Amino acid sequence: MKFWFITGSQFLYGEETLRQVEADSKEIVAGLKLPFPVEYKLTAKTNGEITDIIREANYDKECAGIITFCHTFSPSKMWINGFAALQKPWLHFHTQYNKSIPNEAIDMDYMNLHQSAHGDREHGFIGARMRMPRAVVAGYWKDPAVQEKIAEWQRAAIGALFSRSLKIVRFGDNMREVAVTEGDKVEAQIRMGWQVNTWAVGDLVKEMDRVTEQEIDALMQEYASLYSFDEKDTDAIRYQAREEIAIRRILDREGAKAFSNTFQDLYGMKQLPGLASQHLMSLGYGFGAEGDWKTAGMTAIIKAMYPDGQTSFMEDYTYDYEKELILGSHMLEVCPTIAAEKPRIEVHPLGIGGKDAPARLVFEGKAGKAKAISLIDAGGRLRLIVQDVCCEKPYQTMPNLPVARTMWRPEPSFLEGLECWIIAGGAHHTVLSYNITDRVVRDFARIMDLELVPINASTTAVSLERDLKLGDIIYGR
Ligand code: MN
Repeated sequence: MKFWFITGSQFLYGEETLRQVEADSKEIVAGLKLPFPVEYKLTAKTNGEITDIIREANYDKECAGIITFCHTFSPSKMWINGFAALQKPWLHFHTQYNKSIPNEAIDMDYMNLHQSAHGDREHGFIGARMRMPRAVVAGYWKDPAVQEKIAEWQRAAIGALFSRSLKIVRFGDNMREVAVTEGDKVEAQIRMGWQVNTWAVGDLVKEMDRVTEQEIDALMQEYASLYSFDEKDTDAIRYQAREEIAIRRILDREGAKAFSNTFQDLYGMKQLPGLASQHLMSLGYGFGAEGDWKTAGMTAIIKAMYPDGQTSFMEDYTYDYEKELILGSHMLEVCPTIAAEKPRIEVHPLGIGGKDAPARLVFEGKAGKAKAISLIDAGGRLRLIVQDVCCEKPYQTMPNLPVARTMWRPEPSFLEGLECWIIAGGAHHTVLSYNITDRVVRDFARIMDLELVPINASTTAVSLERDLKLGDIIYGR
């Protein structure tokens, strides 16, 4: 994927200035050290040039967004037709070629050439006047902290692009009677672009029957290179390998990057996919248990934003009021990318579901700052709730809880953090990500037009209630 860099100017200052603007713009682009490439496209001087380049950006499948900058003044009425047609994410880079003002060299020619403080205000006005969703990054282009802000927007834009072509396979429906895993799949497709469809568990079982022993041998070798396990558990682990290969085959055949299943519908399967789902998540596939396709989708998107990151499907299980910690885990399906140590495959019975004892990865999550993210259907709109949390190494060994687990304390404080989560309607299922930042969340929510509900150190239950009421005014009840 690529991002296009468009410089705004006009003919007023003469050919020489335009040549300098172009040379400086190319130098700025070459100096950006970002996770995804940026390509200088042109210095735009007319309505026609701008409209054409934006139409091209819309059409180009590899263009993930546009970055604009006005080295000189660029009369903004010439941008209206282009912006009215813009379908890609937009970042207005409010930078300047020179870092400081030269005392001796400054004259009116210098002023005409280096007037981002002037030209970018005209550009900012038309963005505001047209109510354009856009990211604004201000600062000197060589400053790494400024470049990092562009990098964060790039990740959000990549996530948006990924979202708009995301297919999610549901094996079975959501868990019976559960509300929060329900949702309007038509609204989700309009807003997020997700194609959420169901596949029969029986077809998955047929696919499992077609998996060969040689294919299982190969995956077992991969498991052995990544995880430790006992020989006695081999048969149960081989069954998970069979499940994983079959699930992946269906996902890849459909071009899907996320899936959900439910332990209430495993007809014909001997084990709930545990290790299978965990290993697939580590390969970048999104997962949601109990039919939770919304969390599956968000997990896949954040994994696409951070391909080498630490992101997992998660569930808030139980509290320790004394230590002020939440124990996060799931029956089985936590992604090993968040593991603090080498995960171990173990086989133990589940208390519910009535199936064979499933093989699963057991580990403790790593310590550090993270975000717990829940996308809920708030009725007529999707609400993205993002809570800052601080993960800690579990302080107990919990020998009778052989699942992957982690512990965290939510912001702004343990109890107020819990109250805020409940007030906002956050689900018990979340995406736990150690990578995603406030800026990426904000940029992503803006691009997708989601109701964003951040819960962080500066949130109070009082301010949150007011923000949710504002959301009702903005989006309707
Ligand atoms: Mn669950």
